[in-house]
Amino acid sequence: MVTRISKLVLLSFLCFTSISLILASLRFGPRFTALLGHFTPTKYKATYITQRPLVNVTMAPEKYKNPPQKPPVFTGTPESLLEDTKRLLDKSKSIQDAIANVPLDEAKFSNVLLPSARDDNVMSLETRIIGFYQAVSTDKALRDASTEAEKLMDDFGIESSMREDVFQRVDAALKKGEKLDPESQRLLEKDHKSYIRMGLGVPAGPKRDRFKEIKKRLSELSITFQKALNEENGALWFTPEELDGVPEDVLLTLQKGEGENEGKLRLTFKYPDLFPTLKYAKSSAVRQKLFVENENKCNSNVELFKEAVVLRDEAARILGYNNHAEFRIEDKMAKTPKTVDDFLGDLRTRLAPGGKKEIEKLLELKKEDMKSRGQDDKFDGRYYLWDHRYYDRLMLEKDYQLDHQKISEYFPLTSTIQGMLNIFEELFGMVFVELTGADRDKVSETGKGSDIAWHEDVQVFSVWDSEDEGNEFVGFLYLDLFPRDGKYGHAANFGLQPGYTDENGKRRYPATALVCNFSKPTPKKPSLLKHDEVVTLFHELGHGIHDLVARTTYSRFHGTSTVRDFVEAPSQMLENWCWTPSQLKSLSKHYETGESIPDELIHNLIRTKHVNDALFNLRQLHFGTFDMMVHEPKTHADIEKLPISETYNKLRKDISKLDGMEALGSTWDWGNGQATFGHLIGGYDAGYYGYLSSQVYSADMFYSVFEKDPMNAKEGRRYRHTVLERGGSQEEMQTLEDFLGRKPSTEAFYRELGLQ
Ligand SMILES: [Zn+2]
Repeated sequence: MVTRISKLVLLSFLCFTSISLILASLRFGPRFTALLGHFTPTKYKATYITQRPLVNVTMAPEKYKNPPQKPPVFTGTPESLLEDTKRLLDKSKSIQDAIANVPLDEAKFSNVLLPSARDDNVMSLETRIIGFYQAVSTDKALRDASTEAEKLMDDFGIESSMREDVFQRVDAALKKGEKLDPESQRLLEKDHKSYIRMGLGVPAGPKRDRFKEIKKRLSELSITFQKALNEENGALWFTPEELDGVPEDVLLTLQKGEGENEGKLRLTFKYPDLFPTLKYAKSSAVRQKLFVENENKCNSNVELFKEAVVLRDEAARILGYNNHAEFRIEDKMAKTPKTVDDFLGDLRTRLAPGGKKEIEKLLELKKEDMKSRGQDDKFDGRYYLWDHRYYDRLMLEKDYQLDHQKISEYFPLTSTIQGMLNIFEELFGMVFVELTGADRDKVSETGKGSDIAWHEDVQVFSVWDSEDEGNEFVGFLYLDLFPRDGKYGHAANFGLQPGYTDENGKRRYPATALVCNFSKPTPKKPSLLKHDEVVTLFHELGHGIHDLVARTTYSRFHGTSTVRDFVEAPSQMLENWCWTPSQLKSLSKHYETGESIPDELIHNLIRTKHVNDALFNLRQLHFGTFDMMVHEPKTHADIEKLPISETYNKLRKDISKLDGMEALGSTWDWGNGQATFGHLIGGYDAGYYGYLSSQVYSADMFYSVFEKDPMNAKEGRRYRHTVLERGGSQEEMQTLEDFLGRKPSTEAFYRELGLQ
């Protein structure tokens, strides 16, 4: 189960996961990993030149008009959220109690595991949505209630997962050795292991009590940390002159100051403000200020982070592990921290020379640029963190004639989404039908269409199998694309309701949401996506599709509920479509002329894929290495005394070689980057490496199967059925081998990075 919250991963066998969420990696960079070799310009043909419009219900054929299942409603109130939570937990407790009453010698799968699994199935239809409000509601009271409810669920989850009486019966059922179907057998084994991992192998007494106390505290820490991030509302005031260089359409969206801020503009730390400013603001003082303040925007999280890593270490040691990383990686594809450390270390060695060369070139550019602006005297020979986005962008424009603004004119949000959904329709045999207006009223169980979404901006789709796939209903897809106050600030896929097969053999269909933060349309212009945003959207949509097409018996294994170091691979593989000329062509549609993107722009874009790629990957490596470092201390005392912020900043300097405030005389703790993103507190702990290591699998799959013909419908459907459909219901390595027809290899990955 991929969950937001780390301890929920530990608890996932009970599936009291209020939110199932996949975070986007922190790759803020403009490009992703490189395609093979360099690109020779040819005439690029779109796979289909004109985009087929997506159908709405009125236009849809009869067979796609009436979903066999109502979509969930989002009518929760602060009171109802807490009441519903209590009702669900009471019911769950009574089911656990009943299991605990099964005589030990009669314990078997059907009377111990099955009742619990079915309770999970039904519960998760409500619990995930209850927890979802905190990420998307505009109502603070509702967000708070959602957080509160999640705490209750987490606490209950911890209690349940530590029930000795239930564990004894699971243990007895395992020892019975019944002949089960593979997915049920997997459920049994995973559940059993989860109890052990929750401390039930530790004799009852003070040690186990302490363990339990830690788990509860970790749950609180994670929730408080994420809440602070979601609600972070800081900003800096700059004059229009200070923001010289920042694109006009960004400036237009900024709030204008009054009183003491008269004549100034309010720049927040939200992506649509932050990134363009770091990329385009000519003033390095402004970029520096913004960068440093952004690294300090959530300092209330600093202490929480520290406490969490110390407690995780203590908990892992109570269970007999050497550290938290060993505990976390044991059931992943990597299996041991050593495998991860070796992988990251090898990658670092291979990337280092490239990073150094890239900085040399960027420094030259910086020198020239400053000279051209009459600032030679200020050039100090250093390349700073807040320089990178700016000069990376400038290099792409100058040396590669790459103009991201211009490219974005070909990717208005609405038609790009349409194009993406068209790709999934062709490739995987799906049909997306948008629900709008009166059609929403018709499918809503309350009769009110507005109830089937949580905000007016949200688009809702019913999703179906295509004719050749049997016309069956697939599930519901939601797109919530623009920032607003109190909303989750990153890009992520949230599973709202999982799919499963119920006790009568009837299929329950899933509901899944993309929550992103693209710039809002202005009166003059639609929302235009930069290429990296196109990739992000496609990536997140990839998780959404994974979550839609899975067919598992138990919700526990549904969709993206795979191990963390595999879960990114399917989406990463799909990113390649956004680097394929024919696909770019068919995704594009100029917002004024309706033309598709010219070959020359595609050429310019694709040939930049390698540019500054080593620095980009070194940045990912910094997160991954830092994550391992704080979760793999030699002794407990080591982690207690580890200065976290200092370590974070020093390690970044060591790995990326970019200078920070320390080069200007500040102490090493000048910023607290670890407090500004949720990954390491929210489920990616000792797991960030997964973003890099799953690229090994995604590159292998793409180059072995799709590179020659990304729109090959036969392979697309084979991928859907052998990989996506399986979810976490079998070993992920098995899934990969089934698809590849052999064991995975690192060759494509290193080749892609230009390192082989
Ligand atoms: Zn992802």
